[in-house]
Amino acid sequence: MIYLDNAATTRMATEALEVMIPYLTGQFGNPSSAHSHGRKARLVVEAARQSVASQLMVEPQSIVFTSCGTEANNMAVLAALRDLRCQHIITSPLEHHAVLNTVMHYASQFKVPVTMVNNDSRGCIDLQHLRSILSGQKAKCFVTLMHANNELGNLLDIQAVAEICKNHGAVYHADCVQTIGHLPLDLTSLQVGMASGSGHKFHGPKGTGILYIHPALSIQPMIWGGGQEDLRRSGTENVAGIAGFAKALELAMEDIDADMRRVKNLKRYFSAALQEALPGLRFNGDPDHHLYTVLSVSLPSSGYSMSLLRELDNLGICVSGGSACSSQGPSHVMQALGRDAAESVTIRFSFSRYNSIDEIDVVIATLRELANAPYLPVSG
Ligand code: PLP
Repeated sequence: MIYLDNAATTRMATEALEVMIPYLTGQFGNPSSAHSHGRKARLVVEAARQSVASQLMVEPQSIVFTSCGTEANNMAVLAALRDLRCQHIITSPLEHHAVLNTVMHYASQFKVPVTMVNNDSRGCIDLQHLRSILSGQKAKCFVTLMHANNELGNLLDIQAVAEICKNHGAVYHADCVQTIGHLPLDLTSLQVGMASGSGHKFHGPKGTGILYIHPALSIQPMIWGGGQEDLRRSGTENVAGIAGFAKALELAMEDIDADMRRVKNLKRYFSAALQEALPGLRFNGDPDHHLYTVLSVSLPSSGYSMSLLRELDNLGICVSGGSACSSQGPSHVMQALGRDAAESVTIRFSFSRYNSIDEIDVVIATLRELANAPYLPVSG
């Protein structure tokens, strides 16, 4: 199997798995228990919080462990409307469904309007439009705009967004699920109000996430109960998952410069070879502000079959048509770029530090073969 779908999920780092095993076996204490077995588990959770916070340059108390990035996004949206009293939501049509559907749900529940920021045909967010929406608002606004788009790889200047929001008294949440563990981030300097992360996107365990909450923002839980996570997220902590999350983030940051360089080179090599192998190919997204792990391309459906992804899958190559969560229908992101789903076949290749040049060569050779195969030039 060749796995080029790392924006959907990643292979767990062995080192991250190894730190988890003791907490799934002998050291199974509940961090809320007063006895020594429990206190040991509490130490593990708090050490993980310290570690995650130091990687993201924030205070440990500002990190809440969640079950995934989706939960962190839900928490942020709910808290903004219910606890921070925001009365207007500003977002974009390019957000992940974990934000978009949550925004729509809570906007309807709290009866607050939603305004979409414009984007161009490359998927770049129009910051001037954001400024003008905020300038025209008397109500306190909640802005949620993602750091890196999971389908296109476009990177948003979240520091600029945070600055704009600050100038207008708005609360800013950044969905950083595709960037935490992939870019060195100093959330304090970036001045975001809230930020979401997800462990399985950077070789950590599935079922783990974080919500960073700026110390000035006081929020209530979305999940009520025993008051864990400093009264912000009840439920017995996933001790093993939290330890695995922290270890995976440490590993990701340990060699971040070298890993970024290597993956960038893979992507550059792949892009050049792809362009040569597949005539008519078009790169999607903003080439100037781009996350090094994601490469989205479109092929004209007049020349290539819609079954290309299936063919690759049959040959043991995992790629995606967009995000894994929306693989059932046309991509809302491509639609927001003004693309007609019937006119092109879109493929998202996404890379990790575990990919090699040899794998890239195999994928290119396979695509070359498929492109010359007689069944491919059939649209459908
Ligand atoms: N936000 C973005 C940008 C994502 O790419 C994803 C996952 O694909 C999520 C949120 C959801 O994260 P999780 O799978 O941890 O719920």
